[in-house]
Amino acid sequence: MEDKREKLKSFFYKINDCRQCELHKGRTKFVFGGGNAAAELMFVGEAPGKNEDLQGLPFVGRAGKILDDLLGSIDMNRKEVFIANVLKCRPPGNRDPRIDEIDTCKEYLFEQINIIDPRIICTLGKYSTQLILNTSHGITGLRGKVFHRDGRTILPINHPAAVLYNPSRIEILQKDFLRIKDLLGSGNKVKPVPVGKENDSEEDNKSEDSGQLELF
Ligand code: URA
Repeated sequence: MEDKREKLKSFFYKINDCRQCELHKGRTKFVFGGGNAAAELMFVGEAPGKNEDLQGLPFVGRAGKILDDLLGSIDMNRKEVFIANVLKCRPPGNRDPRIDEIDTCKEYLFEQINIIDPRIICTLGKYSTQLILNTSHGITGLRGKVFHRDGRTILPINHPAAVLYNPSRIEILQKDFLRIKDLLGSGNKVKPVPVGKENDSEEDNKSEDSGQLELF
């Protein structure tokens, strides 16, 4: 566990000043992802939105609240899982990720998966599903189906933000979260990892990355 955490930290320091695509110009913070470095379950979203860009943390806006509630519905929380995105920087105005941006950024996600080595990856929405399954099929036909890739179980589900546009979608997501619980199996839950104490003192001279690093 400590080994994975250290590897993830070094990887964070290696890439967090990335300037490989134009998105770095508009970002406030690079959003590496966060959670348990030894998680059995990893979620992969699309790209940071406004709140994520400001805080440097994944899924902290309205879609994040839905994700937290869904995790709570299966007695889990975000400290037990790892949450990352296909893109690490916010596309302007939250536009869809472009193919060239995904191509540039995808190796970061693949290395995160390599380090964390989750048994189950739950892809949230079209972009992460197409990338992880290496397919051009849409999410509608893939969601809720279980796939196996490189020794891992992949479960594509709708993006939680879909609920913001169509509240009835929550029922499908709730059903798919029960599937996640099944896949994890009872008694096989990942133990929560103690998260470092928040230090909000203004005199604290830790780097601004410390909030991100406390998350894994
Ligand atoms: N939507 C995403 O796909 N990722 C985030 O981090 C936030 C919203």
